[in-house]
Amino acid sequence: MLFLKCPKCHETDLFEQKNPYKVKGFFDMPYKCVNCGQKSDIEPGFFYGAMYVSYGISVAWLIAVFVAILVLYPAFSIEFYLVTAIGSLIGLSPYFFRLSRAIWVNFFVHYDKNFSKSPLN
Ligand SMILES: [Zn+2]
Repeated sequence: MLFLKCPKCHETDLFEQKNPYKVKGFFDMPYKCVNCGQKSDIEPGFFYGAMYVSYGISVAWLIAVFVAILVLYPAFSIEFYLVTAIGSLIGLSPYFFRLSRAIWVNFFVHYDKNFSKSPLN
């Protein structure tokens, strides 16, 4: 999941553009996996649900940064926390966007080592 691979065969990339920081083709996902035939957009609007996953990832990240700063810097200041947490969240948001889509699709499509190559998938 962390490497953004096809949920069914774990072999091909979930996104056409491998680098999440390249603007061109950022949202583009192949229609079907070329290896196993799994559709990436299972139904219209399927990835709206990934917004909830994205929210969870963001909140988890903000809490993790908060705890890390509390442990590593005894002289905690809210200004330092806000700059660090929001700056890192903005920096990581392209990856978190894609990660949330990968997590969301993995809720519904499970790994199948004996995937069939049927075009009906
Ligand atoms: Zn696949």
